[in-house]
Amino acid sequence: MVDSFGRKINYLRISVTDRCNLRCIYCMPPEGVKLIDHGKILTYDQIADFTRVAVSKGIDKVRITGGEPLVRKNIATLVKMLSSIQGIKDLSMTTNGILLEEYAHTLKESGLMRVNVSLDTMDPAKYKEVTRGGDLFAVLRGLVAAKAAGLSPVKINCVVEQNRHEADAVDVAGFTDKMGYQVRFIPKMDLESGSFGVVDGGNGGDCAACNRLRLTPSGMLKPCLFNDMELDILSLGYATAIEAAIAAKPSKGKCNHTGNFYNIGG
Ligand code: SF4
Repeated sequence: MVDSFGRKINYLRISVTDRCNLRCIYCMPPEGVKLIDHGKILTYDQIADFTRVAVSKGIDKVRITGGEPLVRKNIATLVKMLSSIQGIKDLSMTTNGILLEEYAHTLKESGLMRVNVSLDTMDPAKYKEVTRGGDLFAVLRGLVAAKAAGLSPVKINCVVEQNRHEADAVDVAGFTDKMGYQVRFIPKMDLESGSFGVVDGGNGGDCAACNRLRLTPSGMLKPCLFNDMELDILSLGYATAIEAAIAAKPSKGKCNHTGNFYNIGG
């Protein structure tokens, strides 16, 4: 699929839940969040059926995100369903890694190819503070399990204030070098104000080369993260929603007043 700016759109990011087992300070407000009713969350059959249509139109790269995808029940079942769709060349997941030690092998056996794990600091106390209670060592064990399971490459998503020269980012880079993981530095984003930057070591945030669509847990298809536009795949129909999203995809992001990172999936 090619949008009206000549960009090839082949990447679908699927947020399977707005729930998470962490409360990162730059993602979730201290007072907590109003979660989507269970009844409004897409079923695995709906997600797989939608993805099959999207693949028939040119999507070949799929990423499972959240919230935290590993807190959704039987997530390996969805991985198996997606990995059986002919035409998907790259099936990955973004996770905070807290439950990865438990799931890595099952995910690999179900057809997952690789993982991105969020890690902003190597300091256990600071990690606990940034995630409001997370255990850094659980993530480190999860990374080892991911590599042992054959998920490859194992990539680290490191959120930075500005850039990779910050002390925590330098520590994370040193760690990933030593362990043979790949690291990407994601400048902090703000949906409301529309502040975002290009991912250092990746291609997110580069509007001129944007290749992605996003599906929210409640079935809204978003042409752009930094835009309020969303299309209801259930009322429009899968094919119509995809065509409309491609036609409406903006040249670049501005701001988003309707969504949140935990229910769009970054
Ligand atoms: S802001 Fe929108 S157009 Fe720009 S890279 Fe992100 S999703 Fe693509």
